[in-house]
Amino acid sequence: MLRSHAGAARFAWNWGLAKCKERYAAEAKWYSAIDLHRLWNAAKKADPALAWWGENSKCAYQEAFRDLDRALSDFIKSKKGQRKGRRLGFPKAKKRGKCKDSFRFGAGVMRCSGTTVTLPRLGTIRTHESTRKLTRRLEKGTARILSATVSRTAQRWFVSFTVEVQRAIPDRHRRPGTAIGIDLGVKTLLTGADNTGNAIEVPGPRPLRAALRKLRRASRAHSRKAPGSANRRKHAGRLARIHARTANVRADALHKATSDLAGRYETIVAENLNVTGMLANRRLARAVADQGFGTARRMLSYKAAWNGGQLVIADRWYPSSKTCSACGWRKPSLTLAERIFTCEACGLVMDRDVNAARNLLGLAASGAESINACEAQVRPVPDGHRAVKQEPGIADADNAGTAGSHGPAATRELTHAH
Ligand SMILES: [Zn+2]
Repeated sequence: MLRSHAGAARFAWNWGLAKCKERYAAEAKWYSAIDLHRLWNAAKKADPALAWWGENSKCAYQEAFRDLDRALSDFIKSKKGQRKGRRLGFPKAKKRGKCKDSFRFGAGVMRCSGTTVTLPRLGTIRTHESTRKLTRRLEKGTARILSATVSRTAQRWFVSFTVEVQRAIPDRHRRPGTAIGIDLGVKTLLTGADNTGNAIEVPGPRPLRAALRKLRRASRAHSRKAPGSANRRKHAGRLARIHARTANVRADALHKATSDLAGRYETIVAENLNVTGMLANRRLARAVADQGFGTARRMLSYKAAWNGGQLVIADRWYPSSKTCSACGWRKPSLTLAERIFTCEACGLVMDRDVNAARNLLGLAASGAESINACEAQVRPVPDGHRAVKQEPGIADADNAGTAGSHGPAATRELTHAH
């Protein structure tokens, strides 16, 4: 039934796309999701070849039309330059086995009970993982399910709910004044420097490295099998399972690291990396994709907000790696192979990533106080940056320890420094 619904969603997308293409060629207009739904309702009854439509929930078709509507308007927006990101092409037809099996319910009975989920038409399905967390929220009335998307990855089916949640967000972080600059590294998962002078290093998870080794082996084995053979199909399935497992291990490590940081620091400063650009660099692509930079940033952004903190994103062109975190001297060029930063002006010798993280921390201190969460851009203020630069760790540690007893002056200093 799951496969049938995914097929129905794919059919509806392709059917709607064909209709929209016809109209787009003639009138440079397409059908809205509602138009398509109306056309479909007429067509499915008139055409005996579509008699199977009743086997699937009507949601599967309806939501596919909505997706198509959105894809078309995104295409137009992208064409007109009203949409950020890379240029989008005209939506393409979905091909069985080549596209992701997925469908969505936007209405009807959707609930879970701790060990099961109940969906329209499909009924109650036992889940492999516990659904207790969401169940509890639903029972307490602090969550409401808006939609459910069912999709397949390798041989497993997943359901993900879009949920409206009432979340108690604290006014202030439970550790006010704490700040950390982080550098998303190629060698380590992330390197941080906090306002007390501590350097933190989160290595890439061991199981990820093991999974990546397995992945390399499996992908070589797969590519050696004759195209179109049963053997190749078998190996493709194996490869897909290893891919899925690798992604899970990576997501797990990122979740743990970002939750930990968001709980411990009020302000988190990270670089705005041009991930798409880095992925275009073939020698960097693997390392960048492996660490999931974009995902890490997204997680930090919402987790900081949940904790009453904020994520500050430094300007893309800010040279955090090339600048000396002690005196502000800038190295003319720095290759990725240079793991140690050596300052030719003041003689500082420091791990490259720690130096970058300290610069980012300094950036927050220098005038980013007004920046509010998420996607705000901070341009470095050269003077302010240098002012808080002198041994930031020690100065901040003193302030943090004695702010309470030193009265307003110390308190103001503290607020300014962070
Ligand atoms: Zn220096």
